[in-house]
Amino acid sequence: MKTSYIPPSSLDTSQLPLLEFVEGVANFRIRRSSRARYLSIQVHPPGVVEIVVPRRVPAQEVESFVSAHATWIRETCEGMSRRHREPGTVPPSQIKLAVLDREWSVSYNAKPRARLRVAESKTGLEVFGANDDVARRRALLNWLRRKARAFMIPAVGKLALKTGLRPKVIQIRAQRSRWGSCSTNKTLSLNLCLLFLEPELVRYLLIHELCHLRHMNHSPRFWALVEQFSPGGRMLDRNLNDGWTRIPGWLLTEL
Ligand SMILES: [Zn+2]
Repeated sequence: MKTSYIPPSSLDTSQLPLLEFVEGVANFRIRRSSRARYLSIQVHPPGVVEIVVPRRVPAQEVESFVSAHATWIRETCEGMSRRHREPGTVPPSQIKLAVLDREWSVSYNAKPRARLRVAESKTGLEVFGANDDVARRRALLNWLRRKARAFMIPAVGKLALKTGLRPKVIQIRAQRSRWGSCSTNKTLSLNLCLLFLEPELVRYLLIHELCHLRHMNHSPRFWALVEQFSPGGRMLDRNLNDGWTRIPGWLLTEL
């Protein structure tokens, strides 16, 4: 795989003519830090490698440091991409929303001065007016937000009728840390990443959060209520941890 290298303005890249990056690792960046005391390597999901370089460390030293740790970098990135089945920050050519059992192919229309928008047909999305990867990811994130709203609000409504547990406000959020939450003022916050999970898992999560409207804890009484509306649901709770592996890499970089 060809490697790409984003040169920071503070680093004279002409001093790095021989910087041979690690084979198989697509995304490197180098950060000069005035506070760092040692050279270090950080790998961020979904596999972005960042080399932190203290002031006055010459380019050759960076290079030999990176090559000395090449195996570790490659293995760490491989581990991460195994966990994130769709690694990379490149906007996708396809989006599959498991909860809806639907799939769209994505195309990008770079017509100059087009208004930023995502046109949706039955099986395709066309992104207009976004001319770089960042803008494209943002446009798709906004589309996901709308999709999440259109799906979650009626889904919660149905379950609220069934359970008699009604939130006052439903918020859709894009976040990395949690699938959902419920506050004391009866606001239900739901992560748009739920769109990538299977329907039974999403249903369980919604019931879990709705049950917090009655019990703001994880007491036996709370779990009994969850079991009442979602038999076997507690088992699904474990699958939620694993659910993060189904979130595509391009989206993770936006959260
Ligand atoms: Zn909970």
